[in-house]
Amino acid sequence: PYDVLVVGGGPAGSSAAIYTARKGIRTGVVAERFGGQVQDTLSIENFISVKKTEGPKMVASLEEHVKDYNIDVMNLQRASRLEKKDMFELELDNGGVLKSKSVILSTGARWRQLGVSGEAEFKNKGVAYCPHCDGPLFEGKDVAVIGGGNSGIEAAIDLAGIVNHVTVLEFGAELKADEVLQERVNSLPNVTVITNAQTTEITGDENVNGLTYIDRATNEEKHIELEGVFVQIGLVPNTEWLGDTVERTRTGEIVVDKHGATNVPGLFAAGDCTDSPYNQIIISMGDGANAALGSFDYLIRN
Ligand code: FAD
Repeated sequence: PYDVLVVGGGPAGSSAAIYTARKGIRTGVVAERFGGQVQDTLSIENFISVKKTEGPKMVASLEEHVKDYNIDVMNLQRASRLEKKDMFELELDNGGVLKSKSVILSTGARWRQLGVSGEAEFKNKGVAYCPHCDGPLFEGKDVAVIGGGNSGIEAAIDLAGIVNHVTVLEFGAELKADEVLQERVNSLPNVTVITNAQTTEITGDENVNGLTYIDRATNEEKHIELEGVFVQIGLVPNTEWLGDTVERTRTGEIVVDKHGATNVPGLFAAGDCTDSPYNQIIISMGDGANAALGSFDYLIRN
């Protein structure tokens, strides 16, 4: 059996595994796709101490660092069930069962997709999901934010300070963001809010050049010219497979304390799959280190 089994091989899982391996305890990593969301990231400019890098490049260095330690990496393996008996038992899609004294969940999250034509095609070519990450790439340009909830309005406020103009498109008749955010966004001269807007297509040639939507009040089709589209309709944690083995929030995020501990003794979690408020590479790595030290503490006491 393992001392620590890490589920997920993104920034959080990689960092957790290196931290536990450095304690000399037996560590395994199960990852559906090593690298996680970083695989899908074009340019990374906010990983402090590295001025600029690319996702796949960062994944390669993560892998190199992990492989420098005695860590069993089981890539392309999906965990489907977790149970705590005398030890934790993790079942994989391939039917295998792994045992471990403690487990760190770091299965990350995925951005909810709009599912309209052009979205997948222009991903990283004008279609973006993370304003903290990609906002500066649109300096001086016109962009849209799709979604009028808290994350959409926060994104619009953030982007308004960088880009030329922001159009917010909300499907419903009203914005759903907190009142103070709505007041703030309405006070900004370079933000236009359109409600009752159903985005139907993201257009472009090499890169995004516009967006088509239906005005649900009049049924009229409209087109806006712009260079960027930020989709802000929610982030979904990859935790469905856990069912009620661990406490999760209403939206499925694993609830953790300051030590990265969940409500189940010996079960820890880190990164985007948890209820920590901000989702970034540097934060996930910090979370992973934190949960690793938490699990080490647990192991020496049990
Ligand atoms: P993830 O990176 O999501 O990794 C999750 C891991 O768990 C993966 O290995 C996955 O395959 C695995 N997994 C999931 N389910 C299972 C399962 N059932 N069994 C086994 N394995 C499983 N952040 C920045 O700081 N800077 C940026 O510039 C930036 N740009 C971004 C651009 C894009 C397009 C996206 C999508 C995100 C970006 N982010 C950026 C956010 C950043 O990538 C995430 O915050 C970070 O990757 C989260 O790390 P994580 O390890 O928690 O999860």
